[in-house]
Amino acid sequence: MRIVFFGSPGSGKGTQAAELAKAYSLIHVSTGEIFRAKVLDGTRIGKRIGDTIAAGSLVDDITTNYVLFKAIEGLNRFLVDGYPRNIAQARSFDVHLKNIQSELTCALFLDVPMEVAEKRLMLRRSQRYDKIENYRRADDAPAVIHHRFDVYRRETEPLIQYYSDRIIRVDGTGSPAEVTHKIVKALQQWA
Ligand code: ADP
Repeated sequence: MRIVFFGSPGSGKGTQAAELAKAYSLIHVSTGEIFRAKVLDGTRIGKRIGDTIAAGSLVDDITTNYVLFKAIEGLNRFLVDGYPRNIAQARSFDVHLKNIQSELTCALFLDVPMEVAEKRLMLRRSQRYDKIENYRRADDAPAVIHHRFDVYRRETEPLIQYYSDRIIRVDGTGSPAEVTHKIVKALQQWA
C-alpha cells in the first residue's frame, strides 16, 4: 500500500494519518513534521524552512521533493501526509515512483468544508494549554491561517482533479473515531 493523503489545513489529516498508519502497518511520513524537525537543527536551510512555515507558505519544490524521496527510500508500505501540495510535486512523485518501478495505490482526500476546517484550527489554538506547542505551530496564528487556506485553494485543491483516476474521497466531518472508521473502510479493498 502506497498512499498519499491530502486535505485542507484543519481537515484532521495529521491525526487520521497516525491512526491509519497503525491500522494498516504503514510507515507514516509527514513532510510537515520532517520540516519542523529540520527547523530545530539550527542550519541555514532549517532557518529558511522555519521562516517559510511560519509565513504559511510552501517550502520550495526542489527541497520538498528531495526530502520526501529520501524519506520513502526502500519503503513499500507508506502513507505520505502533507505531500504532494501542488501539481508539480504530484507529477515529480509519479515520475520518481515510475523510475523505481513503483506506483501509488491511491490518493486519499479528506474532505472537510473550509469553514469547518478554519473553525477547528482557531479552536485548536485557543484551547491549547501548552504554549510551547503554540510556538512550534506558529503557522496556527490567525493571520497565517488565512494565508494557508489561500495557498491550499490555489495550489493543493487542484490535486483532486489531478488524481481523479485514483482518488478515494472520504467525508472528514464527525468525531475523529468516526472519521477513522470511514477511512479504514474505504481502504479495505487494498488491505
Ligand atoms: P497542515 O496540514 O496543518 O497545514 P503540515 O504539518 O502538513 O500542516 O505542514 C506545515 C507546513 O510545512 C506547511 O504549511 C508548509 O509550509 C510546509 N510543508 C509541508 N509539506 C509541504 C510540501 N509538500 N510542500 C511544501 N511545503 C510543505
